[in-house]
Amino acid sequence: MLQSAIFFETPEEIFARVFTELRPRTTLPSVRLRFCKFANANSSARWDENGLEFRITDVLEGAPAAILESLAHILMCKLLRRPSPRTYAERYRRYLNRKEMRRSLQLVKQTRGRKFVSGPQGASYDLQTIFDELNQAHFHGLMAQPLLGWSRRPSRVMLGHYDPSHNAIILSSLLDRPGVPRLAVEYILFHEMLHLRFPVEHRGARRCVHTREFKDAEKQFPLLKEAKQVLKTVCSCGA
Ligand SMILES: [Zn+2]
Repeated sequence: MLQSAIFFETPEEIFARVFTELRPRTTLPSVRLRFCKFANANSSARWDENGLEFRITDVLEGAPAAILESLAHILMCKLLRRPSPRTYAERYRRYLNRKEMRRSLQLVKQTRGRKFVSGPQGASYDLQTIFDELNQAHFHGLMAQPLLGWSRRPSRVMLGHYDPSHNAIILSSLLDRPGVPRLAVEYILFHEMLHLRFPVEHRGARRCVHTREFKDAEKQFPLLKEAKQVLKTVCSCGA
C-alpha cells in the first residue's frame, strides 16, 4: 500500500510529503526541485520567501522513489537542523555506492570537474624521477603512468592523495622544499602509488582504503620507520 503510494508521487510530491511529516503544523511552502549538472553528488536545500528549493545532482534524476525520499529526509533534516534518521542516510549511501552509480559519478567528475595539476617538476624535487625509481624498485616498472603534481597550497594535513577520477597523484607542496629530506617525498609518493595499485574496496556501505594487502605492501618500503620519523618533523616544524 505504502509502496504504491510512493510509486505514484512525483519527486516534488515526495519532498512535500516529507516536509509535512516533519513539520505537520507548518503550512507547506511551495516546493521546487532542480536537477543540476554538478561535478559531484552534492545536493543543497534552501528555504526562503519563495519557498523550498532543492538542488540535486542530475545523476539522481530518475532514481527510485525510495532513494529520493531518503534524500528528502536528509536535506530537510539538515535544513531544520535536526538529526536525520540513520535508515535514510544508510539507504542513500548504499545507493550511491552501487557500482553503476560510482561509475556514473566518476564519469561526471571527470568530465565536469576541473583538476589543477602542476606537473611533476617542483622547486626542489622532480616527482617523475622519483616515480620512475619507485616503479622500478617496487612494481617491476609495470605501473602505468599517472598524472603527477604538487598541491597549490602546502597542506600539513594531507601530505598526498591519489585521485582516481583524474588518475592523478598530488603531493603537498610542503614537501617540495630544500630542507625536506628526499626520503619523505619518496615515502609519500610510494604510499600514493599503493593506492593506485590497491583500489578502495567497497563492502556494502563501507569503504576500506588501507586494506590488509595495502598495509603488507607498504611494509616493503625500506627505511619505513625513518621516513615516518622524518615526516613528523616536517609537519611540526612550522616552516
Ligand atoms: Zn593512504
